[in-house]
This record gives sequence, structure tokens and C-alpha cells, in this order.
Amino acid sequence: MEDSLKRPLGHGQVRAWLGSVLKSRRVSGSYLFVGPTGIGKQALAVEFAAALRCASPVEGWACGRCNECVRVAHGVHPNVRRYAKPDDSRDLPVELVRTICDDASLSRLEPGYRVAIINDADRFNESSANAFLKTLEEPPAQYVFILLAANSAQLLATILSRCQMVRFSPLSAADLARVVSGFEGMPASPEERELLLRVAQGSPGRVAEMLALNVPALAGNFSSGLAADPFRAAEQLVAALSKDLPAELGTEGLRERLRDVMAVLSADLRDRLMAALGMHDVAPLARRHSHEATSADALVAALNRLEALRERIDANANVKLACDLLALRYPV
Ligand SMILES: [Zn+2]
Repeated sequence: MEDSLKRPLGHGQVRAWLGSVLKSRRVSGSYLFVGPTGIGKQALAVEFAAALRCASPVEGWACGRCNECVRVAHGVHPNVRRYAKPDDSRDLPVELVRTICDDASLSRLEPGYRVAIINDADRFNESSANAFLKTLEEPPAQYVFILLAANSAQLLATILSRCQMVRFSPLSAADLARVVSGFEGMPASPEERELLLRVAQGSPGRVAEMLALNVPALAGNFSSGLAADPFRAAEQLVAALSKDLPAELGTEGLRERLRDVMAVLSADLRDRLMAALGMHDVAPLARRHSHEATSADALVAALNRLEALRERIDANANVKLACDLLALRYPV
């Protein structure tokens, strides 16, 4: 039988530490996994939960094949539940947190550890945090909370102080390249792949998102369409960004996509700057430009303009307008 667990690559230190917890069986009642989105926090939380339930663990870790592991891996184990903020809500709603507490207080369906994996732990608001504190502080016996958060700066101190923090680092370039090599839609050219990996900052989840939207191609088409007609290039970019956008993601989803495209364009500008300074070979997107003689000063100015525009987008600028500005500010 195949291994049912995902077992994310990398995170050697975290894995070693969790491994020692599993072997000693000195499991604490609440862990907080903190690190960038899409790097495998959830997969490792599931693997850890499976290890706590596994019928035939291997050096403390889950076998991935027993009935317990398979049910945990597929998210159908009654004693291992996963929770996340609804897509249309900014915060973890207090109703959801009450459900989490009620579930924890129910008598166990099967003996052994019970685990609650809670995504978006950086999205507790005051009232949902208050509803949670007592349960988090004194979880029932053999009950383990694993909270997942991307942004430790946004965590409420009351939550933070009651959990054992486990920090996740971005994957190394080599690990990231290995994880994503099998992803569908990876660019064929090594330079384009390298650019994408750099923009993803050690997060396979980010690579997957950018590939799903075909961000490298969007950025490439946009930048090569600018010379002929910047407004048309902007219009096409808005249309491409809006395509198949789930309604519940709304304008914020559109901004998020635009940020991804801009991240690729910024990386491309930085590469062109390095090339203009004679520091390395010209980068992939730039090769498609008709004239590559943009001066280093002009490129630095363009990077600054892009940064200023990104701040306006963060401050809720209109996406159509932002794309027009981008078209006018991006050096051909
Ligand atoms: Zn197992």
C-alpha cells in the first residue's frame, strides 16, 4: 500500500525537533507553527497528527499506511479535525472558534490523541481569541492544538503566549527546485524557472499559485506588449488577472494576483539592472525586449516607481488604474 501522507521536503530542524517530541511522547497541548504561506506547515501538522495516532510508527513518525494514518491523511479521521477561516471573512469568526471549543469538549470517539489543526491563527480577532483562551490554556487530556500562522507580527499576544512556537523557514533554493520540479506548467527555459523560484521566496505553494495563473507568461506578455501599445497591454493584463477569479476572493484576490505579476516584473527589472551594471547575463524576460539599452539609472527609477505603485495597491488602489500606471511606468 502506498504512503498516504504528503511529507513535505525540507524543514530538517523542525522535523528533528518534532521527531524528538514524538519519540519521548512528551507532547504539549498547543503548538504554533509560524512561517511563510505554502511551505508545508499544514502538511507537516497532518503528518505529526498522524504520528500521534499511528498504529505502527517508525521511529516515532507515522507509517502512512495503517488505517489511522490513511484516515488522518484524507481528513476524515473523527479525532483529527482541521479548521480554517471562511474565504469571505477577514478574521477567524467567533462562531467557528466556539465550534472548535465544543468539538474539543466532546468525549472522545476513539481512544488516543485528538488533534485540532487551526489555519489562519494570525486572524484571531479580540472576541474570537477571548472565546478560545480558556480551552487553549487547558486543553482536555491528550488533546493537541496545532495553530498555523503565516505572520507572527499579526498574532495576538494572548494566543502567542499560550503556545509552543515552532518556526518554519522558507525552503532552500535546492529543496524548492526539487519540490516544484514535477509541478505542471513549470516554464521550459531554465532562466524562466530560476526567475519564478526566486520570486516564490522558498514557498512551493506560491510557485503552484503563480503557475495556476500562469504568472510568468502574463508578466512576459505584458512586458513585451508595452512597446506597441501600453494601454492595450494594461487592458489585456486586467482581463487575464480577472479570468476565473472566484467571486468570494473579490477585489482583494485581483490585487493579490497583480502583486504576483509585479513581483515577477520587479525581479526582471533587478536582473536587467544587474546586466546594465555588467554584473551578470541578461535575464529571460528582458531578452524579449526590442531594445535593451535602458540605463542603470532609468532601471533604478523604474524599480522605485514599481515599489511606490505596490504600496498604492496595498492601500486599496483600483486595479484597472494600477495596471494603466504600471504600463506607463514600466520601462520598455
Ligand atoms: Zn500509521
